[in-house]
Amino acid sequence: MDYVFSAPPPVGIPVAGEHALFPVRRVYCVGRNYAAHAREMGSDPDREPPFFFCKPGDAVVPVADRATLDLPYPSRTANLHHEVELVVAIGVGGRDIAPTAADAHVFGYAIGLDMTRRDLQLDMRKAGKPWEIGKAFDASAPVGPIQRRAPGPRAAIELAVNGQVRQRSTLDQLTWSVGEIIAQLSGYFELQPGDLIFTGTPEGVGAVVAGDLLEGRIDGLGELRVRIAR
Ligand code: MN
Repeated sequence: MDYVFSAPPPVGIPVAGEHALFPVRRVYCVGRNYAAHAREMGSDPDREPPFFFCKPGDAVVPVADRATLDLPYPSRTANLHHEVELVVAIGVGGRDIAPTAADAHVFGYAIGLDMTRRDLQLDMRKAGKPWEIGKAFDASAPVGPIQRRAPGPRAAIELAVNGQVRQRSTLDQLTWSVGEIIAQLSGYFELQPGDLIFTGTPEGVGAVVAGDLLEGRIDGLGELRVRIAR
């Protein structure tokens, strides 16, 4: 099959211990999945069903181990926020997956940043309009190397800006577990190999400016370093 112009290759994320890359298909994100973050965003943290939004697959920017990514400050915002998140990489597709069967669909785990134009997101939210301009912009999803083993259930998740910790929690604070997220999401969409799921961010989100160094960390998954370009 010929195309009228060359089709772009998928974004490829390094996999720890392997030469081949993980080809990204879709990026699903969970909103408000830590109670303390739901509260700081002005929502009731009761265990309402998880909700989902998407980023384009090519919004992912892979960050190699021990590298520092230079991330451009996006256009049309004056309030760029960091959200550090556990990212689940899907290796086996499926629909209507049971929570107890979810592990078999997971290829691995990574640390990611759901970068957010908070001013635009909140404007859209207030107006009852879609969030895309706040969430789905170019380079809005830096992701570190994928690890084939799961982080521990009480692993710490943390983000520091210029050496100061801004976000700190543990994965057992997730309102909806990875298995429950996969179960819910696969009821709405047929998951496919190459899909990524951002599982939500803990409390402490805030703004960054040009020149800031963001260092994310999840126990067992290593670190992710991003510099906001000047
Ligand atoms: Mn998020």
